[in-house]
Formats: sequence, structure tokens, C-alpha cells
Amino acid sequence: MNIPFSPPFIDQSVIDQVVDTLHSKWITSGPKVKALETEIMNLTGSKAAVCVNSWTSGAIMMLKWFGVKEGDEVIVPAYSYCATALCVLNCGATPVMVDVLDDFTIDPKKIKKAITSKTKAILAVDIAGWPCHYDSINKLIRDPDINKLFVPESEKQAAMGRIILIADAAHSIGAIYKGVPSAQKSDIAIFSFHAVKNITTAEGGCICLNLPVIFNNKDEYNFLKIFSLNGQNRDAFAKAMGANWRYDILFKGLKINMPDICAAVGLAQIRQYPTLLLPLRKKIAMKYCRMFSMFPWFIPPALKDRNRESSYHLFPLRVKGITEAERDEIIDFLLSKGIVVNVHFIPMPMLTYFKSIGYDIEDYPNSYKQYSCEISLPIYPQLTNVEVDYIIENTIEAVQLHLEKSNLIEIAS
Ligand SMILES: *Cc1c(COP(=O)(O)O)cnc(C)c1O
Repeated sequence: MNIPFSPPFIDQSVIDQVVDTLHSKWITSGPKVKALETEIMNLTGSKAAVCVNSWTSGAIMMLKWFGVKEGDEVIVPAYSYCATALCVLNCGATPVMVDVLDDFTIDPKKIKKAITSKTKAILAVDIAGWPCHYDSINKLIRDPDINKLFVPESEKQAAMGRIILIADAAHSIGAIYKGVPSAQKSDIAIFSFHAVKNITTAEGGCICLNLPVIFNNKDEYNFLKIFSLNGQNRDAFAKAMGANWRYDILFKGLKINMPDICAAVGLAQIRQYPTLLLPLRKKIAMKYCRMFSMFPWFIPPALKDRNRESSYHLFPLRVKGITEAERDEIIDFLLSKGIVVNVHFIPMPMLTYFKSIGYDIEDYPNSYKQYSCEISLPIYPQLTNVEVDYIIENTIEAVQLHLEKSNLIEIAS
């Protein structure tokens, strides 16, 4: 059998949406992007949604929007995809990495220790689709003692009056926190629509605004649309539809708008997401848990509790007590059986670039511990029952074989 890790969901409705876009003769930002933004607002209950061409570019824009610049600090978890820290570096600011909890999310106690008078933002990751501890983080950034440290240096920072909470929601579209979509629990939540994510536009992302009442989310939406289009006050679609040809550049924007031809893919997917695509992911996660729970080596991932429910983006299998090298051997076994798995993530301080600028994995022991025993198993709507059973059988075999081998070594020594 050959089981890919995370192929995109392309059914007839996706193809029809893309073909419809081609026939409409309008392929860049226009009505499909607008329709996708509306669907995202409905799904997440957000006050505004701005589609862009990636999570990364959207995060850079939002940090710039808030006025984050050289000399500022942004707190991020050490355990994430590199983009979580690179967006900060690309604004000239410093990512201050902190360690994570056993559920992979950023540790609020570590955030508290890391806050200084230079801290402008916290970028918290809903890893694997599991919402981070929003109540604790929100309480922290509103704490009067913490607030005393905050030095506003831009108009938006003055209006906010505190550290801003930005959610790296790259994995978590559809996740729930205390009965509401988790995107509502941060000031700004950014989704990724990269090809491997729960909803995709090939490449893309969306910024959900749930800013405090002092901000007008609609005005900020209009401003961000211009920001994402070189700071140009009249977009190509409006001009094509007969608006005045003359335009102006109002400020130094970025060019990161999402094209309609990409939005069409996401539009067809999101319309089936709550009723079909997300429930299918959940069903697979539940089956994995049910089957692996029979074994003492299984560390179940956080998927659902009293307050939170995952978007089931990843199934991070953890095997009790194994080393990084042992984990790699189990992965090799699965690959030899045609099952493509992954590791989410290599902690950023272990990557060459981050090492070269001074980060050290020794400072993030729990990130290393989680990473070294983690294997992300395939989880996506198209996986058949037969494939899921095959993955389960082979995973159990791989781990059991491995444990027997290490037991024999122990007995022999
Ligand atoms: C995929 C991912 C990103 C980056 O998304 P792009 O759309 O590829 O820029 C950021 N953070 C996390 C946690 C991700 O998994």
C-alpha cells in the first residue's frame, strides 16, 4: 500500500469552482476571495476576514500593522514551524522563544517570565489544531502589573493599550474554545491555506480580526485590503468593473493578495468542511485513539476536553519513553510499508539558522522531549477504512518490534 501524508482534498465541486473562475475571465482577487472571506467569517464568527497569499505574509503584515519594528520583542513557542519566528525577524524584531507544555502549546507561565518593556506581541500556536490556553494568556496580557511594562510606540499600540495576542491558527480552522470558534479568543487569528492544511487554496492564508471595541474591524479590513495590495487605493477588480482608472499609493504596502483562482479551491472545500471534511478527520482521530489506547506505550494527544476541541489537523502520536533515534527507526519501518509520516515539529532552536543566531535547544527541554517521541500519522478525509486499519496495524507492529528489541538489549546488558 502507498499512503501519502496529506494530499489536498480535490473533488468535483473544487474542480467546478476553479473552472467557473476560469470561465468568468477574472482570475485574480475578486468575487471568489470575497465569498471565501464571508464563509470564513460565518464559520469562525469573526468580525472581519482578510485573505492573503500565505500565513507567513499575513503575519508579517499584521506585525507591521501593529508597528512592530527593530528593538521590539515578540514571544513565540520554541515548538512550531519556522514561520512563527521568521515573520518576527522579517519585521526587524526579536522572537523570544519559550518552552511548551505537554499538550504542545505555549506555556503561559513561561510567557509571563519572558515579558519585558520591549514585548509588543505574543504569537501563540494552536498546534495540531489544539487551541492554546487562551484564558490564561488573555488574563496575563490584561494584568495591571504586566500592563505597566507596556510601552506603546505606534497609533495601534496606543489604541490597544497592551500586548496584542496573535494566534498562529495555521492548523486550527474549526477548533473550539469554550463553546465558540477558537479564532474569537485572540485579537487576530491567522489561518494557513497551504496545500497540506485542513482547508487549502494551494498557497494562502486568512487574517481574522476580533479586535477590541476601540477598533472598527470594518475600517481595519478596508485598510488591510489596501495594505495587501501595495498600498493602492483602488484594486484591479474595481478598475476592471469601470471605476475611475486613476489610483494612488497611500503608503508602503505589501503585495500579498490572494487570487480568485486559489480562493475557488478553498471556497468549494469550506462549504463542506463543518458537515463533512472536519467530521471525517475527527472519526479517524477517534479510531486511532481507540486502537492505540490498548497499549501502555501510547501517549494520547489532546483532542477534546471540557473547554476545547481540536480541528484534528494532525494526529501527533507519541510513544512513551523512546529516544529520538528510536523514533526515527519506527518512522523508517512505516516508510518501508508505504506509509508516509512526519514529525511536527523540529523545534526551531534545532534548525541551522536559529542556532546561528544564538538559540539553543538546551533552553527548551520540553520541546525536545515532545519532539523526540512524536510521529504525525496521516489524517485526512480521503483516507479509507482499509488504509486507516493498515496504518494502525503497522504502527502497532513497528512500536512493538522496537520495544521487544530494546528489551532484549536491556536483558543482555
Ligand atoms: C503551515 C504553518 C505556517 C505557515 O503557513 P504558510 O501559509 O505556509 O505561510 C505557520 N505556522 C504553522 C504552525 C504552520 O504549520
